[in-house]
Amino acid sequence: MAVTAKTTSVESSSAMLEFPARRVPVVMEADVVVVGGGPGGFAAALQAARMGCSVAMIERFDMPGGVHTSGLQGAANEGVGGIHTELMERFAAKGYVYVASEKDLPGWAGNPLSHYERNHKPGASFKRASFNPEGAGCEMVQMLDEVGVTAFYQTSFVDAVVEDGAGDKKMTAVIVQNAGGMQAIRGKIFIDGTGTAELAARAGAPYVSGGGGQPDGTEWDGVKRPIPGGLLWTMTGVQYEKLIRYQQTSNDPALTALIAEASAAKDIPAGLYRPRMGGGAGVYGEAYVGHPTLDMSPINAPGTFIIWQNVPYEWALHMDESAADETRARRELRAFIDAEARFLKKYVPGFEAAELTDIGRFVGIRDGRHPIGEHVFTIEDARAGTHFRDAVTKPMTKTFYWDGYRKHTFEVPYRSFLPKKVGNLLLTGASMSFSYETIFMVMRNFPWCTQTGEIAGYAAARAIKQGVGPKDYEWKEPYF
Ligand SMILES: Cc1cc2nc3c(=O)[nH]c(=O)nc-3n(C[C@H](O)[C@H](O)[C@H](O)COP(=O)(O)OP(=O)(O)OC[C@H]3O[C@@H](n4cnc5c(N)ncnc54)[C@H](O)[C@@H]3O)c2cc1C
Repeated sequence: MAVTAKTTSVESSSAMLEFPARRVPVVMEADVVVVGGGPGGFAAALQAARMGCSVAMIERFDMPGGVHTSGLQGAANEGVGGIHTELMERFAAKGYVYVASEKDLPGWAGNPLSHYERNHKPGASFKRASFNPEGAGCEMVQMLDEVGVTAFYQTSFVDAVVEDGAGDKKMTAVIVQNAGGMQAIRGKIFIDGTGTAELAARAGAPYVSGGGGQPDGTEWDGVKRPIPGGLLWTMTGVQYEKLIRYQQTSNDPALTALIAEASAAKDIPAGLYRPRMGGGAGVYGEAYVGHPTLDMSPINAPGTFIIWQNVPYEWALHMDESAADETRARRELRAFIDAEARFLKKYVPGFEAAELTDIGRFVGIRDGRHPIGEHVFTIEDARAGTHFRDAVTKPMTKTFYWDGYRKHTFEVPYRSFLPKKVGNLLLTGASMSFSYETIFMVMRNFPWCTQTGEIAGYAAARAIKQGVGPKDYEWKEPYF
């Protein structure tokens, strides 16, 4: 049925449309509603269901796993415990984990084309484990089915229904859109697994937008740019021996000569192999700012490589908050991938018979919204090694890239899972209340995001059992 609507002029110059109130069917009432099925949302849904809750999980694509499956990332880290270890074991048992080493790829350590091993000592031994994103996604679907999670795939979260109260707001339902039209799902506790804190933002929680500046305080042209997101893609049928022979015998390790030749022939668009901003120093010079070379890593099977196509830093895109930015990223990165695949086949030995086989279902976002939680975890917390009475893990030690690559031993409080102003919402993964310089790279990897989901699912289930909201649930001891 078409909706009648009237346009009204508003003070700003952009037209606005009044969307009439609509009645939508309530398709489920659950104890716990999880929005987004990435590593965080997936683990939250699984854990809450295992602890006896009825759980709805909403995912815009056709499988859980987020950046790591739908985004093709597939990095298989050693298990860190709990659901993460279980995932790694189940993927391996199904034959979905592929490990490449110096025996398969001699000359890969120290190779400037390698995303992960480029800084290794040339000739060093290495092990690069990856899981097959599609196979892993199938396994994750089954794991949710086994514990009775009601998963809504191909379903987009649209908005949050919120009741205002004297203190914090209370979410009562989410509005989703799928093949059945617009629908509502009611819940007692909600969990944000969107990777961009979209649920928290729509529910009215305060947040800071991505793009806080650079680790050394540098800004280009006075603009604070988000750490760029990226679209990953794969090529199969690569003859590695030919590639390495060319790199070594032509003394062209970074394919500089071939890139120059293709650029002169106008076979490479401006921006594909762009110079690194900041001259290649520091974190942003390492990997995320500019691609002067091909940036790739073995995945799935011999001859298959995943290739990074990051958003050019200078575009300063906020893909989580601007449809125009997101569309631009998808459109232009696809154009880069098309050009890069054709360049590789035409110019680079070893790629003649290779094929572009997959492009991620979305451009992953590295630096989206950062919600303001009951505690915002900052670099000062890491430096001071602050002890929190509500620590969710035993002290962890990680390298903080945004603090001159220093190592800190620190704890994370449960309050970083609790956004301000909304009472019955828990945060997970990349949506947690961390300042941008602590969440990016340090706390934003697959193992940690899975752990945060497991913790949020546990807290939600305990709170439901006690008949309290997540903010009244008293966190007593580390989970991991
Ligand atoms: C390009 C890139 C490369 C990376 N490389 C690595 C790496 O090598 N190793 C590593 O450990 N980590 C890596 N990371 C980091 C890691 O992948 C992420 O931090 C992690 O996936 C975050 O987990 P998450 O569950 O919070 O969110 P995500 O993985 O982003 O998952 C969010 C999920 O929510 C869904 N969703 C979002 N909005 C909606 C909506 N409105 N309606 C319905 N569903 C929605 C999405 O479809 C997605 O499935 C990388 C990240 C990016 C972007």
